[in-house]
Amino acid sequence: MKDFQFFIPTKIVFGKGKIEEFKHLYPLSRKRALLVTGKSSAKVSGAIEKIEKQLKQIKVDYKIFNKVKENPDFETTSEGASLSKEFRAEIIIGIGGGSPMDAAKGIAVLSKNSGSMEEYMSGKPLDNPPLPVICIPTTSGTGSEATPYAVFTNTKKNSKAGFANEKIFPIFSIVDPELTYSMPENVIIDTGFDALTHAIESYLSIKHYPLNDIISIHSAEIILNNIHKAAEKNKEAMDMMSYSSMVAGISISQCGTILLHALGYPLTVYYGITHGRANAIMFPYFLEFMLKKSKEKERVKMIEGLLGNIGNYIKFIESLGISIKMSDYGVKKSDIKNFVKDTINKKNLKITPVNITEKDLEEIYTNAF
Ligand code: NAP
Ligand code: FE
Repeated sequence: MKDFQFFIPTKIVFGKGKIEEFKHLYPLSRKRALLVTGKSSAKVSGAIEKIEKQLKQIKVDYKIFNKVKENPDFETTSEGASLSKEFRAEIIIGIGGGSPMDAAKGIAVLSKNSGSMEEYMSGKPLDNPPLPVICIPTTSGTGSEATPYAVFTNTKKNSKAGFANEKIFPIFSIVDPELTYSMPENVIIDTGFDALTHAIESYLSIKHYPLNDIISIHSAEIILNNIHKAAEKNKEAMDMMSYSSMVAGISISQCGTILLHALGYPLTVYYGITHGRANAIMFPYFLEFMLKKSKEKERVKMIEGLLGNIGNYIKFIESLGISIKMSDYGVKKSDIKNFVKDTINKKNLKITPVNITEKDLEEIYTNAF
């Protein structure tokens, strides 16, 4: 039996209509809150109106920072942190998909630390604990509501990477499936696929252990059984996606994401392909590689079986209307060199049970054309 640690300090409140419990969960000693959102999702999901109303009821002063775009960059995070400092915010509330939730975590760090996000991501220790963070997801994807991670885009280096620190686990998260009902079909599919890859990659990570296996497989099974119906806006299926993406978040909070996430990042940075879709495009080539090279082949075969009859994982992806050919997204073969250069240094590769070379990566990307 392997040694392991299981740690998740976030209180997770799950259920339809649970957003109304916000005021009972909120730490009343924090009198100034910064709400971090994207342009429209916090509004169309109905979340922000409900939070503002309750903040007024409990007499908490607040400001809204609504400039977070998809795949948040360092600049936006610094801008949010300046507002947070100017307002002397005492708590940060992220409302939206992974992008606003991750930006909220970054803003919480920079509100209390004078370095840059880039420095902290390169290993500089934090001088002070970040401000406490609350997460309210409106997508069923990233699981950021249950992770100690925040992913940022470095626009100068054309690169995306995650920041990991136990101190950015949210103090509480409200996972209210009703907030996800306004998602358009493409967002349901892409974010749902992201959640599926979290479940699968955490299972295949070298950090796996039996308790987390159960969590990974539990969430993968629910996602596989519900993603198609959810894409048709079936509410019960959407509720199940909301639940299982949070569970998949717990699974990566313990065992991380591996090679597949690293392969997907350049597609997002260079071509603006959404995070979940990028993972879906690269999935078959990743699985094929793992079936050949993983030091733990039985586990990869188990995942292959989970996706349908052996060898049918491509059909599964295409049944969601996703093309697995990079050329269909305008990606050029001449970019492969840059993709490889970026991917080879990712931390995700260190917890993948294969010694991965640049040649392997080149082959994987070439197969995707
Ligand atoms: P997102 O980038 O937060 O949102 C995608 C799009 O969906 C946006 O246009 C957003 O609108 C819209 N949207 C969100 N909720 C909606 C709703 N209920 N109704 C209608 N539209 C809605 O997507 P995401 O996939 O959830 O997050 C992706 C980011 O999370 C990436 O940067 C990824 O790398 C990161 N990530 C983080 C973790 C982690 O553990 N922290 C794990 C995996 C991925 P607005 O622009 O108006 O918000
Ligand atoms: Fe992800």
